[in-house]
Amino acid sequence: MTSIYKKILEKSNSYEKDTADFLVSMVSTPSFSGKEKDVIEVIKKEMLKVGFDEVRIDGLGSIIGRIGNGPRVIAFDAHIDTVYPGDMSLWSFDPFQGHIKDGKVWGRGTVDQKGGMAAMVYAAKIIKELDLNDEFTIYFTGTVMEEDCDGLCWQYLINEEKIKPEMVVITEPTNMNIYRGHRGRMEMTVEVQGLSCHGSAPERGDNAIYKISRVALEIEKLNARLKDDAFLGKGTVTVTQVFFSSPSQCAVPDAATIQLDRRLTFGETKESAVAEVQEAARLAGYPDAKVKVLQYTEKAYTGKVYPTDKYFPTWVVGEDSVWLKNAVAAYTETLGKKPVVDKWTFSTNAIAIAGMNDIPCIGMGPGNEVYAHAPNEACPVEHLSQSVAFYAGFVAKLNKK
Ligand SMILES: [Zn+2]
Repeated sequence: MTSIYKKILEKSNSYEKDTADFLVSMVSTPSFSGKEKDVIEVIKKEMLKVGFDEVRIDGLGSIIGRIGNGPRVIAFDAHIDTVYPGDMSLWSFDPFQGHIKDGKVWGRGTVDQKGGMAAMVYAAKIIKELDLNDEFTIYFTGTVMEEDCDGLCWQYLINEEKIKPEMVVITEPTNMNIYRGHRGRMEMTVEVQGLSCHGSAPERGDNAIYKISRVALEIEKLNARLKDDAFLGKGTVTVTQVFFSSPSQCAVPDAATIQLDRRLTFGETKESAVAEVQEAARLAGYPDAKVKVLQYTEKAYTGKVYPTDKYFPTWVVGEDSVWLKNAVAAYTETLGKKPVVDKWTFSTNAIAIAGMNDIPCIGMGPGNEVYAHAPNEACPVEHLSQSVAFYAGFVAKLNKK
């Protein structure tokens, strides 16, 4: 008797061309963050074509396809916005003319991460055709605005749409490995006040740029003191921008601000990170410096503004997680090889799902992350069909097939 996992792999191979063609049509429909309306229509058409039970679009503009109506809920997520192409002279082809050549699909978003979306949709088709699922209501979400503010779309899905899965598969590129965490991050500013006066008599004033410079040097020292973690790596902080205000070019400036990029490792939170920066300002001699976490307030294509702090918490799924064990077993049985279990370098929607809501996430997606945000982005076709097989195999495994 042919095992169900072998049948899944055969099916995913038979749909390889359809999966790649669907990816081409998504890549050929640009969808920068906040401008995803057209590609959502492309995805909706494909979901209806392959036989999803329900397809709808939420208030922020993300698409939610559902199959099954079992008592338990799980989800697969792909963000479907992309970054801009950057310097066009670095591309050897038009990034929005998706095409298949030399065993790869080429174009902006093939790796990050419309490839994951394409694979999810064809996995759903196979789950239905092979009758792999009784236990779960499964949502397949094509989410918006991730490149600008990761996790915002899932804060919306969880808090406003009340979708609360037990586990979510994040289909961002893993180069066909299985990932179980990544560092978090946050964006902060530190502001100090000075006193302006004529530049010809600086002793009358209090120069805010000198003050913020001392704070910046304390931030450099803070970076050296930050925690390390064996799996996720070290927390980091760096100054990324400097701003000031002054009545004239011939005046002592009356305020200055630095912006910080903070990467958070295991055990570091918004509260701990803010407290450390406040302490750095105190060490510089300015306990009154104002430390702020920046806010994201951009508008979705639906017109909705859903503000959030630019705080993206760290998450890790333990090595002993039952979800992870099932994912590794499904991968091994479907693809006939053992996966490498590792972590992402970059950040994903899991910061909201796992980091804010403690819902375990499993990462597996087509493409190599080194091509994300890079020119001449391309995803191997073989990764697409293998991802299709893994997603369907994982659902089969969770249903104890
Ligand atoms: Zn991405």
